[in-house]
Amino acid sequence: MSSLFRKNIQEIAGYVPGEQPQTSDWIKLNTNENPYPPSPKVAEAIQKTATSRLNIYPDASATVFREAAADLFSVSPDWILPANGSDENLTIIFRSFCEDGSTIAYPYPSYVLYETLAKIQNCSVERLQLDHNFQWSPQDAAELTKLCRLILVPNPNSPTGNRWTADQLATLRPDNGILVMDEAYGDFPSTPHMGQLLSESRFSKRTIVTRTLSKSYSLAGLRFGFSIADPELTSGMLKVKDSYNCDAIAIAAATAAILDQDWMLNNRRMIVETRQRLANALTSLGFEVSPSDANFIWVVHPSGRHQYIYEQLKAQKILIRFMKFAGSNQLAEGLRISIGSDEEIDKTIDALQQIVKDLNE
Ligand code: PMP
Repeated sequence: MSSLFRKNIQEIAGYVPGEQPQTSDWIKLNTNENPYPPSPKVAEAIQKTATSRLNIYPDASATVFREAAADLFSVSPDWILPANGSDENLTIIFRSFCEDGSTIAYPYPSYVLYETLAKIQNCSVERLQLDHNFQWSPQDAAELTKLCRLILVPNPNSPTGNRWTADQLATLRPDNGILVMDEAYGDFPSTPHMGQLLSESRFSKRTIVTRTLSKSYSLAGLRFGFSIADPELTSGMLKVKDSYNCDAIAIAAATAAILDQDWMLNNRRMIVETRQRLANALTSLGFEVSPSDANFIWVVHPSGRHQYIYEQLKAQKILIRFMKFAGSNQLAEGLRISIGSDEEIDKTIDALQQIVKDLNE
């Protein structure tokens, strides 16, 4: 049967998402979810929609959401294209812009789903290698901008947590393609959202910003994301997306969530405070902690025993992410820890204290 698949599908391994135990007895710090609940207005909106007209199709263009998001990012609604999670933003982008044989690039290490999506689309992939300061070389960037149909940059980056400046991003604009600024974690830095970069003329054309409600808005279980781009791009992408890619409940809930900025910003404030506390505690346990602009931190331990640390935590029902990057020059492996609630982080620090003590003996 496997020979019935397209050749490139036969050959790829498939993306493996983080573990998702569905019981509540885990401290779950492995997939960068928000430990706090979404705005209560989300539940109200869901309830209202669930008891109204689910027998009819939803608004294919999610007008209420587009208007609310447009307002937030100071663009007109035709700059906003909603999707069923930001992973669907990416699928729509690959299907819209990549020909068979196009080349795409992304910083490495970062979000390896880009590679899977590229291969499904029969594209070749160039990894823009990051050095130990999470920077790319200007020569590599200059070469790739000549070659690529798409260059995708998570900003802040995952798993490293750093954020690149507008000037750095500008060096990655393809000569004849699209720069995708993947802002899944774009609400966590202390300066305003990078969506505003689109108002700069150098980014206004051939740039797409992607956003998700999974992280800052506490809605990973809902599945909602959106792209922000010039209408010349969104109008073409509209032809690619499924007509009803976002359901009525998700549209109502996502709209309620982004209209309640106070709720999101308060959760964000707590996460940023806890992030600092966790970083300090891990530094004093001997970890090398990378400064983070996201809702997770990236750490390495001088022992190099990352898999052991991950397994020891898992045995105590604390789930973090052990990551290994084949072929990376500088950043071979480490641990990514999502920022949980204060209680969850206290338990994690206590557990790590013991694990590190055992390691040192
Ligand atoms: N981009 C990056 C960099 C991510 O880490 C994630 C979450 N795994 C996504 C996009 C996708 O987010 P979602 O599909 O949950 O909206």
